[in-house]
Amino acid sequence: MLRYGPTTALIVVDLQNDFADPAGSLSVRGGEEVVGRVNDQVQRAVAAGAPVFYTQDWHPASTPHFAKDGGIWPVHCVADTWGADFHPNLIVAGESVRKGRDGEDGYSGFTVRDPTTGDERPTGLEASLRQLRVTEVVVCGLATDYCVRATALDAARLGFRATLLTDAVAAVDLASGDGERALTEMSAAGITLEPGAPGDAWGVPG
Ligand SMILES: [Zn+2]
Repeated sequence: MLRYGPTTALIVVDLQNDFADPAGSLSVRGGEEVVGRVNDQVQRAVAAGAPVFYTQDWHPASTPHFAKDGGIWPVHCVADTWGADFHPNLIVAGESVRKGRDGEDGYSGFTVRDPTTGDERPTGLEASLRQLRVTEVVVCGLATDYCVRATALDAARLGFRATLLTDAVAAVDLASGDGERALTEMSAAGITLEPGAPGDAWGVPG
C-alpha cells in the first residue's frame, strides 16, 4: 500500500491567494477548505520524511495568458503581489516551483508553454524529484480542471507513479462538469484517485 516516504513526494498546486482566497481574482469555490485538507497532508508527508513541493503561478503584469492581453484569464498571480502569495494558512514546508514567470502559460508544475509558439520547457521540478530519487508523487491543490490536472498528467507521462487526492482539490468548473471530466481523464491516464481523508492509506503508520 502506498504511503508517504522519502521517495514519495507531495506536490501542492497553486494554493495562492488569487485562487484560494474568496477575494482572489480567480477564486475557486471551496478553495479555502482545500487549504486545511492540504495542511493535513503536508504534516503527514513531513512526518514521514517525504519531500514537499509547492507550485506557484507567477506571472508578469502583461502576458498573453491574460484576457486583457489576448488570452482567456483575468489578471491573476502577478509576481510579488498579494494574489501570488501563498494563502496565509498554508503550511509551507518545502521548495516553491514558480511557473509562467517569462509570460508563458503555466498550467503544469513540470512544464511551461509559450502561448504563441507552443514551445514547451521544463520548470526544474522533474530534475529536483529525480535528484531526490522520487518515484511516486501525490498531487493536491487548485484547480482540479487546470493546474492540478496538467501537473498530474505530466507526472504520469514522465513515469512517476501518481496519486490524486480527491478530497484536497477543487475545480473551476468554467463549464459545468469540467472537474469531473478532469478526474476521469486522470484516472484513464493511470493516475490513482484517492480521497486522502484522515485515517486512510496515507496516514503515517504508528
Ligand atoms: Zn495563470
